[in-house]
Amino acid sequence: MTIFAAMKIDYLIIGQGICGTWLSYYLQQEDRSFLVLDNNDPNASSRLAAGIINPVTGRRHVAAWMAEEIIPFARQAYEHIGNELGITAILQKNIVDFFPNPQMRLSFMQRVEERANYVSLPQEQNRLLSRFNYEFGCGEIKPVYTVLLENLLPTWRKQLSEKGLLREEEFSMEFLKINATDVHYKDIIAEKIIFCDGNASSSNPYFDLLPFAPNKGELLIAEIPDLPVTHIYKKGMMLVPLATPGLWWVGSSYAWEFDDPAPTPEFRERTTALLKEWLKVPFRIVDHLSGVRPATLERRPFVGLHPVHNKIGLLNGMGTKGCSLAPFFARQLVDHLCYDKPLEAEADIQRFRKILSRNIS
Ligand SMILES: Cc1cc2nc3c(=O)[nH]c(=O)nc-3n(C[C@H](O)[C@H](O)[C@H](O)COP(=O)(O)OP(=O)(O)OC[C@H]3O[C@@H](n4cnc5c(N)ncnc54)[C@H](O)[C@@H]3O)c2cc1C
Repeated sequence: MTIFAAMKIDYLIIGQGICGTWLSYYLQQEDRSFLVLDNNDPNASSRLAAGIINPVTGRRHVAAWMAEEIIPFARQAYEHIGNELGITAILQKNIVDFFPNPQMRLSFMQRVEERANYVSLPQEQNRLLSRFNYEFGCGEIKPVYTVLLENLLPTWRKQLSEKGLLREEEFSMEFLKINATDVHYKDIIAEKIIFCDGNASSSNPYFDLLPFAPNKGELLIAEIPDLPVTHIYKKGMMLVPLATPGLWWVGSSYAWEFDDPAPTPEFRERTTALLKEWLKVPFRIVDHLSGVRPATLERRPFVGLHPVHNKIGLLNGMGTKGCSLAPFFARQLVDHLCYDKPLEAEADIQRFRKILSRNIS
């Protein structure tokens, strides 16, 4: 007769994208026991993202939600984890914003005249004319950072695996049993289960009533050896230097309505044409990828414990800003779990108490 010893832990985490990474990092700091299950989906949003932490948003370049608090927090968090893991996890790469037309130039100048935070006009407007075609000048957005997800996610994963804290496997609801005092999943008994599984949560029977609004994004990877890697460049699309020298991330699209999450020939053609017109230096497209952002209707994250089933939690809904928001809200969630501290009201899923109190489908 075989007797299975159950593995007893405080938290079972589903997903090791940017949310699961930060949640496990802060739980480890608090000496809580946990196990991460992750299926290593190559199309998960965190594996495709450019990693930009941008303090402004929209055509008017207004400050992003909670930017003053969230961005300095994120910068420090990525620096710390990078130092601990012996990798570069974050770099400052301000955006050179090439104005596509005179109206955009005017609108940017107005923000500069209003002394808005994060925007300025570089003195030497012609500095980049040998590399780019641009007729209407450029502005600068700063400070902007890029998170080197291609360094961070695999290195953290390796460390968790080596400590026996991560299993590469598909999580399936059919094996989950929620009790009054704990949750059971196969050989695991955990005090709580926290879902950090990105878009998969939108079909989770405990959370499928939340207003998720998945958003498709496509990107190209291009080899462009002759661009200075000091900045991100923007003109309709963003050109972002990757950790591998010479490689650039080019994107992306934003589609709320789509039938198929796969890359489309239209995006490839449109973006290649844009690069041909914009760049004076040679480039070569080496890849074309697409993914779906776990976005939400009201553009605020979903953080916290289920109002009815308090053994189940969620860290999700990061939309276009997972790199900025995940460290801050993972820390808040850990403080909430360990010390009963309140969550930011606009992010706390208790705001959907009524909806989430309906019967599980
Ligand atoms: C093209 C594109 C560009 C982007 N650019 C930026 C950017 O520049 N800056 C920025 O901040 N954000 C950007 N984003 C958004 C960002 O990627 C997301 O906000 C963020 O990555 C979401 O992280 P997550 O951990 O919640 O989800 P995910 O990244 O989706 O992670 C979920 C994890 O769960 C795992 N998983 C899912 N289901 C299961 C299951 N059943 N069993 C086991 N494991 C499972 C997956 O493998 C994955 O590892 C971009 C997104 C896209 C698509």
